[in-house]
Amino acid sequence: MTKLQCQAPALPDEWQAPHSVGRALELARRFAVDAADARLLLQHVLALTHAQLIARPERLVPAADAEHYVQLLRRRAAGEPLAYITGRREFYGLDLVVSPDVLIPRPETELLVEIAISALAALPSPQILDAGTGSGAIAIALGRALPGASVTAIDRSTAALAVARENAARHGVAVEFLQSDWFAALAGRRFDAILANPPYVALADPHLAGEIRFEPQSALVSGVDGLDALRQIIAGAPQHLNAGAMLWVEHGFDQAPAVSNLFRAAGYSAITTSRDLAGLPRVSGAKLA
Ligand code: GLN
Repeated sequence: MTKLQCQAPALPDEWQAPHSVGRALELARRFAVDAADARLLLQHVLALTHAQLIARPERLVPAADAEHYVQLLRRRAAGEPLAYITGRREFYGLDLVVSPDVLIPRPETELLVEIAISALAALPSPQILDAGTGSGAIAIALGRALPGASVTAIDRSTAALAVARENAARHGVAVEFLQSDWFAALAGRRFDAILANPPYVALADPHLAGEIRFEPQSALVSGVDGLDALRQIIAGAPQHLNAGAMLWVEHGFDQAPAVSNLFRAAGYSAITTSRDLAGLPRVSGAKLA
């Protein structure tokens, strides 16, 4: 093959000429991509902040960057989550690295973090466990907000743990990371609080066909009713909680009654459920007497 044949034009014709940032954003409208996402992708390609991007709309986009930008617009138009394309997601004020090995942290999970922080702030040095840490979002947010706390984070996936370790290091938060299938590697260890955002989507949930198909199934799906992991965590946690300690779990919008029943059946007390910003019951907690 000649060199020319290898260099098939990767860009649509209208992208051939060098373009300004402003023109590139206009052309991006031809893709089925939300305008805010198109802007964030251009910032990502050019390594510019929003302020830098809009300060000079006449700035020229080099050809290689234009080509890269078109590739990313195509990926986004095909449904790939923005966070996987940029490799970043903000959670609780933290800029986190994410990859397809981890669930993309959701705003709902900030509720879980807030509830635990306000309940634990009065303790001088709480021992906290984040079960199924994924990107490390919960563990790192808690470690940063509660400097006296000792935070342990477990995950079954070694690939997820690598992402979580990187995030903890980037934010300078000390977290003990352990590879563990729920509590399997924690024999004899007890905590003052356990938090989990486990997989809780039902196997046949139609929602799984959407954008979340790019995310790890192991972080989303948990049996026929979505409650397998919650059953295991709620039943297993008492062996790892100190007297008077709390377990908080995130769950599906329609799972609060089932989760409360699981708590009751396992002997917990003071069961409460909190609603997320959409007004949906999203986090339940209970105390071990
Ligand atoms: N809230 C997520 C979703 O429905 C599910 C997260 C989870 O299973 N922990 O997209």
